[in-house]
Amino acid sequence: MQQLTYVKTGVLRWDEVKAPTLTDQTSALIRPFVVARCDLDAAFLRRDVFHLYRIGQLFYRVDSLIREMIRPDLLKGPFPMGHECVAEVLEVGTEVHGFFKGDHVIVPFQVSCGECPMCARSLTSQCQVHGAFDMFSGIGRHTDRGGMLSDVVLVPRARKMLIPLPPCLDPLSMASASDNLPDAWSRVAPELLGCPGKDVLVLGGSTQSIGLYCVAFAAAMQTSRVDYVEVNSARRLLASKLGATMVTAEPADVDRQYDLVINGTNRKQAIADSVRFLKPGGVCTSMNIYFSKSTPVPFFQLYAKNLTLKSGLGNPMVDIPPMLDFIKEHQVDVGGVTSRVADWEHAHEAFLEDTTKVVVHRKPLFS
Ligand SMILES: [Zn+2]
Ligand SMILES: [Zn+2]
Repeated sequence: MQQLTYVKTGVLRWDEVKAPTLTDQTSALIRPFVVARCDLDAAFLRRDVFHLYRIGQLFYRVDSLIREMIRPDLLKGPFPMGHECVAEVLEVGTEVHGFFKGDHVIVPFQVSCGECPMCARSLTSQCQVHGAFDMFSGIGRHTDRGGMLSDVVLVPRARKMLIPLPPCLDPLSMASASDNLPDAWSRVAPELLGCPGKDVLVLGGSTQSIGLYCVAFAAAMQTSRVDYVEVNSARRLLASKLGATMVTAEPADVDRQYDLVINGTNRKQAIADSVRFLKPGGVCTSMNIYFSKSTPVPFFQLYAKNLTLKSGLGNPMVDIPPMLDFIKEHQVDVGGVTSRVADWEHAHEAFLEDTTKVVVHRKPLFS
Protein backbone atom coordinates (compact mmCIF):
# COMPACT_ATOMS: atom_id res chain seq x y z
CA MET A 1 0.00 0.00 0.00
CA GLN A 2 0.99 3.65 -0.26
CA GLN A 3 1.92 5.57 2.85
CA LEU A 4 3.06 9.14 3.39
CA THR A 5 6.19 8.95 5.52
CA TYR A 6 7.73 11.70 7.65
CA VAL A 7 11.46 11.51 6.87
CA LYS A 8 12.79 14.65 8.57
CA THR A 9 11.92 18.34 8.94
CA GLY A 10 10.59 19.58 5.61
CA VAL A 11 10.71 16.15 3.93
CA LEU A 12 7.69 13.91 3.35
CA ARG A 13 7.82 10.92 1.03
CA TRP A 14 5.30 8.48 -0.44
CA ASP A 15 6.47 4.93 0.31
CA GLU A 16 5.23 1.53 -0.81
CA VAL A 17 4.88 -0.50 2.39
CA LYS A 18 3.23 -3.71 3.56
CA ALA A 19 -0.41 -3.13 4.51
CA PRO A 20 -1.42 -4.04 8.07
CA THR A 21 -3.78 -6.97 8.53
CA LEU A 22 -6.32 -7.77 11.24
CA THR A 23 -4.24 -8.97 14.18
CA ASP A 24 -7.17 -9.96 16.38
CA GLN A 25 -10.95 -9.98 16.36
CA THR A 26 -11.26 -6.74 18.39
CA SER A 27 -9.54 -4.63 15.69
CA ALA A 28 -10.62 -3.03 12.42
CA LEU A 29 -9.03 -1.98 9.16
CA ILE A 30 -9.97 1.44 7.81
CA ARG A 31 -9.18 3.54 4.73
CA PRO A 32 -8.83 7.26 5.53
CA PHE A 33 -10.22 9.52 2.78
CA VAL A 34 -10.10 12.94 4.49
CA VAL A 35 -7.05 13.87 6.57
CA ALA A 36 -6.14 17.09 8.37
CA ARG A 37 -2.77 18.38 9.47
CA CYS A 38 -2.68 18.67 13.26
CA ASP A 39 -1.21 21.85 14.76
CA LEU A 40 1.54 19.71 16.29
CA ASP A 41 2.35 18.22 12.85
CA ALA A 42 2.76 21.76 11.54
CA ALA A 43 5.31 22.49 14.28
CA PHE A 44 7.63 19.56 13.58
CA LEU A 45 7.17 19.58 9.81
CA ARG A 46 8.58 23.09 9.57
CA ARG A 47 11.02 23.17 12.53
CA ASP A 48 13.59 20.63 13.69
CA VAL A 49 11.86 19.99 17.02
CA PHE A 50 13.88 16.79 17.54
CA HIS A 51 17.12 18.81 17.46
CA LEU A 52 15.71 21.47 19.83
CA TYR A 53 14.55 18.73 22.20
CA ARG A 54 18.01 17.10 22.25
CA ILE A 55 19.66 20.45 23.01
CA GLY A 56 17.11 21.06 25.79
CA GLN A 57 17.87 17.60 27.21
CA LEU A 58 21.60 18.22 27.03
CA PHE A 59 21.31 21.36 29.12
CA TYR A 60 18.63 19.91 31.46
CA ARG A 61 16.06 22.44 30.27
CA VAL A 62 13.27 20.00 29.44
CA ASP A 63 11.11 18.27 32.00
CA SER A 64 12.49 14.85 32.95
CA LEU A 65 9.01 13.31 32.76
CA ILE A 66 9.19 13.63 28.97
CA ARG A 67 11.93 10.99 28.90
CA GLU A 68 9.82 8.65 31.00
CA MET A 69 6.66 9.08 28.97
CA ILE A 70 7.87 9.43 25.39
CA ARG A 71 10.38 7.31 23.52
CA PRO A 72 13.91 8.78 23.37
CA ASP A 73 13.98 9.34 19.61
CA LEU A 74 11.11 11.81 19.92
CA LEU A 75 9.97 12.99 16.49
CA LYS A 76 12.82 11.24 14.71
CA GLY A 77 11.74 9.92 11.33
CA PRO A 78 10.91 7.85 9.49
CA PHE A 79 7.36 7.26 10.68
CA PRO A 80 3.93 7.19 9.02
CA MET A 81 2.33 10.62 8.85
CA GLY A 82 -1.12 11.70 9.97
CA HIS A 83 -3.43 11.15 12.94
CA GLU A 84 -6.59 13.17 12.12
CA CYS A 85 -9.00 11.58 9.67
CA VAL A 86 -12.41 10.64 8.46
CA ALA A 87 -12.19 7.09 7.15
CA GLU A 88 -14.30 4.30 5.72
CA VAL A 89 -14.40 0.89 7.32
CA LEU A 90 -12.77 -1.90 5.28
CA GLU A 91 -13.02 -4.85 7.64
CA VAL A 92 -13.85 -5.49 11.29
CA GLY A 93 -13.06 -8.38 13.62
CA THR A 94 -15.86 -10.68 14.74
CA GLU A 95 -16.00 -8.96 18.15
CA VAL A 96 -16.62 -5.53 16.63
CA HIS A 97 -20.38 -5.15 16.30
CA GLY A 98 -22.39 -2.48 14.54
CA PHE A 99 -19.82 -1.44 11.92
CA PHE A 100 -19.87 -2.49 8.28
CA LYS A 101 -17.70 -2.10 5.19
CA GLY A 102 -18.06 1.45 3.84
CA ASP A 103 -19.26 3.06 7.10
CA HIS A 104 -17.76 6.52 7.62
CA VAL A 105 -15.97 6.84 10.96
CA ILE A 106 -13.82 9.15 13.05
CA VAL A 107 -10.89 7.63 14.97
CA PRO A 108 -9.49 9.34 18.10
CA PHE A 109 -5.79 10.10 17.60
CA GLN A 110 -4.97 8.43 20.93
CA VAL A 111 -5.48 4.71 21.35
CA SER A 112 -7.41 3.99 24.56
CA CYS A 113 -9.09 0.82 25.77
CA GLY A 114 -12.26 2.63 26.87
CA GLU A 115 -12.73 0.21 29.77
CA CYS A 116 -9.95 0.53 32.37
CA PRO A 117 -10.49 2.56 35.59
CA MET A 118 -8.96 5.72 34.03
CA CYS A 119 -11.06 5.37 30.86
CA ALA A 120 -14.14 4.74 33.04
CA ARG A 121 -13.43 8.13 34.68
CA SER A 122 -13.44 9.70 31.18
CA LEU A 123 -9.63 10.15 31.36
CA THR A 124 -8.99 8.12 28.22
CA SER A 125 -5.75 10.06 27.68
CA GLN A 126 -4.40 8.31 30.78
CA CYS A 127 -5.55 4.84 29.73
CA GLN A 128 -3.89 2.27 31.98
CA VAL A 129 -3.51 -0.15 29.08
CA HIS A 130 -2.18 2.15 26.35
CA GLY A 131 -0.71 5.11 28.27
CA ALA A 132 -0.83 8.77 27.29
CA PHE A 133 1.23 8.65 24.11
CA ASP A 134 0.01 5.67 22.14
CA MET A 135 -0.93 7.52 18.96
CA PHE A 136 -1.11 6.81 15.26
CA SER A 137 1.94 8.92 14.41
CA GLY A 138 4.06 11.81 15.58
CA ILE A 139 5.36 12.04 19.11
CA GLY A 140 3.91 8.72 20.24
CA ARG A 141 5.30 5.22 19.86
CA HIS A 142 6.07 4.05 16.35
CA THR A 143 3.91 1.11 15.42
CA ASP A 144 3.10 -0.79 12.25
CA ARG A 145 -0.57 0.26 12.33
CA GLY A 146 -0.02 2.87 9.59
CA GLY A 147 -0.67 6.60 9.74
CA MET A 148 -3.81 8.33 8.57
CA LEU A 149 -2.12 9.08 5.24
CA SER A 150 -1.80 5.35 4.59
CA ASP A 151 -4.14 3.32 2.36
CA VAL A 152 -4.95 0.93 5.20
CA VAL A 153 -4.77 1.61 8.95
CA LEU A 154 -5.15 -0.94 11.73
CA VAL A 155 -7.38 0.33 14.55
CA PRO A 156 -7.13 -1.63 17.80
CA ARG A 157 -9.99 -1.67 20.32
CA ALA A 158 -12.30 -0.88 17.42
CA ARG A 159 -15.56 -1.25 19.34
CA LYS A 160 -14.59 1.89 21.27
CA MET A 161 -12.16 3.50 18.82
CA LEU A 162 -14.53 3.75 15.84
CA ILE A 163 -16.97 6.65 16.18
CA PRO A 164 -19.64 6.92 13.46
CA LEU A 165 -19.68 10.15 11.46
CA PRO A 166 -23.27 11.48 11.41
CA PRO A 167 -24.45 11.45 7.77
CA CYS A 168 -25.50 15.12 7.95
CA LEU A 169 -21.94 16.29 8.67
CA ASP A 170 -19.59 17.01 5.77
CA PRO A 171 -16.45 14.82 6.06
CA LEU A 172 -14.25 17.70 4.84
CA SER A 173 -15.32 19.99 7.68
CA MET A 174 -14.87 17.14 10.21
CA ALA A 175 -11.28 16.45 9.08
CA SER A 176 -9.85 17.43 12.50
CA ALA A 177 -12.46 15.59 14.55
CA SER A 178 -9.85 13.05 15.73
CA ASP A 179 -7.78 15.58 17.67
CA ASN A 180 -7.73 19.38 17.22
CA LEU A 181 -11.52 19.80 17.20
CA PRO A 182 -12.23 17.80 20.39
CA ASP A 183 -9.18 19.44 21.97
CA ALA A 184 -10.83 22.84 21.46
CA TRP A 185 -14.15 21.43 22.65
CA SER A 186 -12.54 20.21 25.89
CA ARG A 187 -11.22 23.73 26.66
CA VAL A 188 -14.53 25.45 26.04
CA ALA A 189 -17.51 23.18 26.78
CA PRO A 190 -16.88 22.48 30.50
CA GLU A 191 -16.80 26.23 31.22
CA LEU A 192 -19.45 27.57 28.85
CA LEU A 193 -22.12 24.94 28.13
CA GLY A 194 -25.22 25.84 30.08
CA CYS A 195 -23.59 29.02 31.46
CA PRO A 196 -24.64 31.82 29.08
CA GLY A 197 -23.30 35.38 29.20
CA LYS A 198 -19.62 34.68 29.90
CA ASP A 199 -16.73 36.71 28.51
CA VAL A 200 -14.00 34.69 26.75
CA LEU A 201 -10.50 35.55 25.57
CA VAL A 202 -8.50 33.28 23.26
CA LEU A 203 -4.75 33.85 22.98
CA GLY A 204 -3.96 32.32 19.58
CA GLY A 205 -0.53 31.40 18.31
CA SER A 206 1.29 28.06 18.47
CA THR A 207 -1.97 26.10 18.61
CA GLN A 208 -3.04 27.54 15.31
CA SER A 209 -6.32 25.90 14.39
CA ILE A 210 -7.33 24.87 17.93
CA GLY A 211 -7.60 28.51 19.03
CA LEU A 212 -9.90 29.19 16.08
CA TYR A 213 -12.04 26.13 16.84
CA CYS A 214 -12.32 27.51 20.39
CA VAL A 215 -13.63 30.79 18.95
CA ALA A 216 -16.20 28.95 16.81
CA PHE A 217 -17.46 26.82 19.71
CA ALA A 218 -17.51 29.70 22.21
CA ALA A 219 -19.41 31.96 19.79
CA ALA A 220 -22.07 29.24 19.50
CA MET A 221 -22.43 28.91 23.31
CA GLN A 222 -24.30 32.16 24.08
CA THR A 223 -21.18 33.91 25.35
CA SER A 224 -21.32 37.62 25.97
CA ARG A 225 -18.17 38.11 23.87
CA VAL A 226 -15.22 36.16 22.46
CA ASP A 227 -12.06 38.20 21.95
CA TYR A 228 -9.03 36.89 20.06
CA VAL A 229 -5.37 37.95 20.24
CA GLU A 230 -3.05 36.67 17.52
CA VAL A 231 -0.06 38.04 15.60
CA ASN A 232 -1.01 36.18 12.42
CA SER A 233 -3.30 38.42 10.33
CA ALA A 234 -4.86 35.54 8.34
CA ARG A 235 -5.97 33.86 11.55
CA ARG A 236 -7.32 37.16 12.91
CA LEU A 237 -9.50 37.39 9.80
CA LEU A 238 -10.69 33.80 10.24
CA ALA A 239 -11.49 34.51 13.90
CA SER A 240 -13.65 37.48 12.90
CA LYS A 241 -15.56 35.33 10.39
CA LEU A 242 -16.07 32.65 13.06
CA GLY A 243 -17.72 35.12 15.42
CA ALA A 244 -14.96 36.80 17.44
CA THR A 245 -16.16 40.07 18.97
CA MET A 246 -12.78 41.84 18.95
CA VAL A 247 -9.53 40.75 17.30
CA THR A 248 -6.12 42.30 17.82
CA ALA A 249 -2.47 41.46 17.36
CA GLU A 250 -1.42 43.06 20.64
CA PRO A 251 -2.14 41.73 24.15
CA ALA A 252 -1.67 45.35 25.26
CA ASP A 253 -4.92 46.25 23.43
CA VAL A 254 -6.92 44.04 25.80
CA ASP A 255 -8.49 46.38 28.35
CA ARG A 256 -11.03 44.17 30.12
CA GLN A 257 -11.16 40.99 32.17
CA TYR A 258 -12.72 37.64 31.31
CA ASP A 259 -14.43 34.61 32.86
CA LEU A 260 -12.41 32.24 30.68
CA VAL A 261 -8.98 32.76 29.11
CA ILE A 262 -7.71 30.07 26.74
CA ASN A 263 -3.95 30.13 26.21
CA GLY A 264 -2.77 28.80 22.87
CA THR A 265 0.63 30.49 22.71
CA ASN A 266 4.03 29.05 23.57
CA ARG A 267 5.36 32.25 25.17
CA LYS A 268 6.71 31.56 28.64
CA GLN A 269 4.94 34.64 30.02
CA ALA A 270 1.59 33.65 28.54
CA ILE A 271 0.29 32.01 31.73
CA ALA A 272 1.06 35.20 33.68
CA ASP A 273 -0.71 37.27 30.98
CA SER A 274 -3.70 34.92 31.01
CA VAL A 275 -4.06 35.16 34.78
CA ARG A 276 -3.83 38.96 34.61
CA PHE A 277 -6.77 38.99 32.15
CA LEU A 278 -9.06 36.96 34.45
CA LYS A 279 -11.98 38.23 36.53
CA PRO A 280 -12.17 36.95 40.13
CA GLY A 281 -13.33 33.33 40.04
CA GLY A 282 -12.20 32.96 36.42
CA VAL A 283 -10.62 29.98 34.69
CA CYS A 284 -7.46 29.87 32.59
CA THR A 285 -7.06 26.77 30.46
CA SER A 286 -3.74 26.35 28.71
CA MET A 287 -3.62 24.07 25.68
CA ASN A 288 -0.02 24.83 24.73
CA ILE A 289 2.51 22.10 25.56
CA TYR A 290 5.33 23.58 27.68
CA PHE A 291 8.29 21.19 27.52
CA SER A 292 10.53 23.26 29.81
CA LYS A 293 11.31 22.34 33.42
CA SER A 294 9.46 25.36 34.78
CA THR A 295 6.96 27.94 33.57
CA PRO A 296 6.21 31.13 35.55
CA VAL A 297 2.82 31.06 37.27
CA PRO A 298 1.70 34.04 39.43
CA PHE A 299 0.37 31.98 42.30
CA PHE A 300 -0.57 34.91 44.53
CA GLN A 301 -3.00 36.12 41.87
CA LEU A 302 -4.51 32.64 41.64
CA TYR A 303 -4.99 32.71 45.41
CA ALA A 304 -6.17 36.29 45.81
CA LYS A 305 -8.67 36.14 42.91
CA ASN A 306 -9.86 32.56 43.45
CA LEU A 307 -8.71 31.58 39.97
CA THR A 308 -8.41 28.12 38.44
CA LEU A 309 -5.57 27.09 36.14
CA LYS A 310 -6.14 24.05 33.96
CA SER A 311 -4.05 22.14 31.44
CA GLY A 312 -3.80 18.60 30.14
CA LEU A 313 -4.19 16.24 27.23
CA GLY A 314 -7.56 16.04 25.56
CA ASN A 315 -9.69 12.91 25.92
CA PRO A 316 -10.96 12.58 22.36
CA MET A 317 -12.72 9.23 22.79
CA VAL A 318 -14.97 10.88 25.39
CA ASP A 319 -15.29 14.32 23.83
CA ILE A 320 -15.99 13.47 20.18
CA PRO A 321 -19.61 12.20 20.50
CA PRO A 322 -21.04 15.22 22.43
CA MET A 323 -18.99 17.56 20.25
CA LEU A 324 -20.53 16.08 17.08
CA ASP A 325 -24.01 16.47 18.58
CA PHE A 326 -23.30 20.14 19.35
CA ILE A 327 -21.90 20.85 15.87
CA LYS A 328 -24.99 19.22 14.33
CA GLU A 329 -27.47 21.04 16.54
CA HIS A 330 -25.88 24.48 16.30
CA GLN A 331 -24.45 24.15 12.77
CA VAL A 332 -21.04 25.38 13.95
CA ASP A 333 -18.89 26.39 10.98
CA VAL A 334 -15.79 24.46 12.04
CA GLY A 335 -14.94 23.92 8.37
CA GLY A 336 -14.35 27.68 8.20
CA VAL A 337 -10.99 27.13 9.92
CA THR A 338 -9.63 25.14 6.94
CA SER A 339 -7.26 27.37 4.99
CA ARG A 340 -6.03 24.90 2.37
CA VAL A 341 -7.74 21.94 0.70
CA ALA A 342 -5.63 19.71 -1.54
CA ASP A 343 -5.95 16.44 -3.41
CA TRP A 344 -4.65 13.36 -1.58
CA GLU A 345 -1.70 12.81 -3.91
CA HIS A 346 -0.43 16.32 -3.17
CA ALA A 347 -0.30 15.79 0.60
CA HIS A 348 3.52 15.62 0.57
CA GLU A 349 3.57 19.27 -0.58
CA ALA A 350 0.40 20.62 1.02
CA PHE A 351 1.37 19.43 4.51
CA LEU A 352 4.52 21.56 4.32
CA GLU A 353 2.71 24.80 3.46
CA ASP A 354 2.77 27.76 5.82
CA THR A 355 -0.95 27.96 6.45
CA THR A 356 -3.32 27.30 9.36
CA LYS A 357 -5.23 24.11 8.56
CA VAL A 358 -4.43 21.79 5.67
CA VAL A 359 -6.98 19.16 4.67
CA VAL A 360 -6.37 16.56 1.95
CA HIS A 361 -8.99 14.26 0.49
CA ARG A 362 -9.72 11.54 -2.04
CA LYS A 363 -12.86 9.72 -3.15
CA PRO A 364 -14.23 7.08 -0.77
CA LEU A 365 -14.19 3.58 -2.25
CA PHE A 366 -17.72 2.61 -1.25
CA SER A 367 -19.94 5.65 -1.76
ZN1 LIG B 1 -2.45 16.06 16.92
ZN1 LIG C 1 -8.16 2.43 29.25
